Amino acid sequence: MTTRQSDVATQGGAIGKPALAVLAIMAMVGAWLLLDEDAGQGLKKKAELKTMEIIGDAAARRLDFGEDGEGTHGSAVDLIKRPIEVRQISDNAYYATGVGNTILIKTDEGNVIFDTGLVLQAAKQLKLLKEVSDAPVRYIVLSHSHADHIGGTRFWQEKGTEILAHGDFLEEQRYLSQLEPYQYGRNRTLFPWMPAWEDRPDIEMMRYGGVQPTITVADWETYTFSLGGIEFQVIGAPGAEGADNAVLWLPQEKILFTGDFFGPQFPQFPNVFTMRGEKIRKPMEYVKSLNLLLALEPEVVVPSHLNPTRGADEIRAGMVRIRDAVQYVHDETVAGMNAGKSVYELMQEIELPPHLELVQNHGRVDWAVRSIWDYYATWFHFESTTELYPVPARDVYSDLAEVAGTEGLLSLAQNYLNQDQPVKSLHVLEVALAGDPSNPAALGLRRQALELLMVKAENGLRNDYEIYWLKHRLADTEARLGDEAL
Ligand SMILES: [Zn+2]
Repeated sequence: MTTRQSDVATQGGAIGKPALAVLAIMAMVGAWLLLDEDAGQGLKKKAELKTMEIIGDAAARRLDFGEDGEGTHGSAVDLIKRPIEVRQISDNAYYATGVGNTILIKTDEGNVIFDTGLVLQAAKQLKLLKEVSDAPVRYIVLSHSHADHIGGTRFWQEKGTEILAHGDFLEEQRYLSQLEPYQYGRNRTLFPWMPAWEDRPDIEMMRYGGVQPTITVADWETYTFSLGGIEFQVIGAPGAEGADNAVLWLPQEKILFTGDFFGPQFPQFPNVFTMRGEKIRKPMEYVKSLNLLLALEPEVVVPSHLNPTRGADEIRAGMVRIRDAVQYVHDETVAGMNAGKSVYELMQEIELPPHLELVQNHGRVDWAVRSIWDYYATWFHFESTTELYPVPARDVYSDLAEVAGTEGLLSLAQNYLNQDQPVKSLHVLEVALAGDPSNPAALGLRRQALELLMVKAENGLRNDYEIYWLKHRLADTEARLGDEAL
């Protein structure tokens, strides 16, 4: 593991240098172009795009795709493995694939872009879509402020291009920018292909943020415009992946461009909670948004990840199921809270009934239960005085380990493993490892507990984030065991 990391770092450095050299040239070209503002703009953008493409290619070569070659099951964390190519949706709509799709809708009076993908892939996506149509970009509609949806915006934007987004877009972008260092590490654990923080292309034009909408829509409001005889409706649809979700609806063609409103797949249980740690998501707003979108009766749903879904009946059935599943989990959580049950009891008890079953590889029901609880009741669960003070249980673990003795703790951890209770085993091992952080027997048991959880995860819900988290913890355990062996 250690060897592999250093390989990646060396490789990164080797590729990083030419990219930086190119950048320096571009900066010089940029300065020269300032002499002639108007003529310069187009050339400057071209130069920037070329730089972006080189850096994007360099980054792609450095990405850690893992050893298995294939992803867990073609969902969010594996999107980096998609080729970048253009596909057609309808007579006048196309999308460039990638981690996030960039969608282009042609009209006789210019083009509309919906979402602009990941910054590392933006130059390639733009180049391919410009081959479909090089007409002026009249509108850019952004589904929300996440980095995988707005990365290419400044390169698509031309003089006079309107940028349409939800009214909360700027606020979401603000907090995501401010918390970027905090979130980056978490994101990288869950999306291991991301470059390390110190290896990321840290140049101004590739940084997150700085997108300024010129037109905004509020929650459940519609902004309508026409272009080349085509009607476009942008609808504020909060409650999904952030407070600033907007969707684009083409009423004549009955195509709904959904961004992340449904998550990367359709249908699936939505990510009411996100493991990387974002603001709480609001399930009842999501239900309200779903009802609004159901009334449109879409015939094609085009998400900003993966591929479109076609067929009014299939789409309707999927949307109804998602809506009813979220409503069910919400209502059961609230009923349990009112009945005096603990959040942990409810996480164990609440399951989707068979007629509402949905895949949970993105969002998970038990995590949604906890998130709904926290949304309404925040962090004090009224269970222990200790919850109120900044003294966590782990502060007494090393003393506890000394009193209990390593031998007793390890045999208890082993017993829990034998009883197929890996989480209880991990609790005990946290105590044991607090007393003796490099104890090989404790680390060995931790590896067994994590492996057991991994087997359950892979044979159960196959939730991506759980699997990548467990992989990360297993790697950490292996590394600590490896250090011990030296
Ligand atoms: Zn996304």
